[in-house]
Amino acid sequence: MELDAQQIDVKFTMHNLQRAKYCAATIIILEVLLAIVHIAQTKTIGDGYFLLYIMLLVLSILFLILVSVIEKRFFNYRYIKTAVWGYYWFVLMWGVSIALLDQRSYGQVTAYLISLLAVTMLYHVRLRKFILLQSIPTIYLMSGLMLVQQDSEMVLTYLVNIVLFIVISAIGSRFLYYGQYKMLAQEQLNSQLVQMNGDLQLLATYDELTEMPNRRGLYDYVQANMRDTPRHVTAMILDIDAFKQFNDYYGHLEGDKVLKEIAVILRALASNCCFVGRFGGEEFIYLIFDMEHSEALHFANNICKAVEQRRIPHQASPFLPYVTVSIGVATDPCCTIQGLQQLFQNADAALYSAKRAGRNRAELTI
Ligand code: GH3
Ligand code: MG
Ligand code: MG
Repeated sequence: MELDAQQIDVKFTMHNLQRAKYCAATIIILEVLLAIVHIAQTKTIGDGYFLLYIMLLVLSILFLILVSVIEKRFFNYRYIKTAVWGYYWFVLMWGVSIALLDQRSYGQVTAYLISLLAVTMLYHVRLRKFILLQSIPTIYLMSGLMLVQQDSEMVLTYLVNIVLFIVISAIGSRFLYYGQYKMLAQEQLNSQLVQMNGDLQLLATYDELTEMPNRRGLYDYVQANMRDTPRHVTAMILDIDAFKQFNDYYGHLEGDKVLKEIAVILRALASNCCFVGRFGGEEFIYLIFDMEHSEALHFANNICKAVEQRRIPHQASPFLPYVTVSIGVATDPCCTIQGLQQLFQNADAALYSAKRAGRNRAELTI
């Protein structure tokens, strides 16, 4: 089994998107609260903090609108990927800006560290992309600190701490990415296995030539419809007359075409509540529930007529110059799954009688 890398990438993107949406929604609430608290404390809306709060608020709303348009209007996972990447990049840049503003009063980089931590936990990407994402915000932070912070010893401590934090985040991000990758790969393998199982089941129960259920398909049908309760069951075994001669005269490939054509006729005559399938070789079987034996015999004779009337040429037949079939019918008003074998033997015996009686007919045993 092979992994479909693009499918995994799409799933990754959608998981990242889901988390980014939660992140944006949380940020919207937080920024509204921060803006309110800020106005209450400072009685001003014109300073850098307030502008940054509003900026992230607007950006988060725009991000949510943008991704919902991409998702609903013209789904393209690459656009979603770019939008999520861009959004987290702005979140980091925002964290750095707040941290730089904080240098004037608190002298902390907490805002940056929180944004770094949030992005690391929520955004699962390859290490290369993670480093790329961090590069500009880190350069911005370091150069900003060197410009804003007068205390050179403090700047040095910050730089060391920031580098340490980024390294730890990168390690964490890598673990999170591969953890999720393994999970998605396993999910994909599981669904491939389920699909293969389904295909195998179909192959095992279907006959490819006639596109009908085979003998195993018949047993599946019986298991599904009979279980433990005895039922009134009729079995009809149908055999093409002089088919060996047909193959010898027209060739095996032409013989295959006849099998297909007979299958089409039989399927057309079958009702929803009965089973028709290939029993093996040039034999077919009907399994019918709750049908009176006189009605069953009538139905079987109609099948013989339908095949005869199709006038499939058979010059080598000692009986008629076209393909005919014989049918053995057996019924059991109180048949269990265990009793089916006997019913099939009875139908086979009836088929033998039909052959002996001249073919192109149906015979019944009760
Ligand atoms: P009868 O009227 O007594 O049924 O004679 P028959 O020739 O039909 O019976 P016999 O059992 O001697 O021959 C059955 C033939 O069916 C032999 C075999 O080659 C042919 N047959 C079985 N399966 C296939 C198949 O999948 N394709 C083709 N073309 N022929 C098949
Ligand atoms: Mg046969
Ligand atoms: Mg035959």
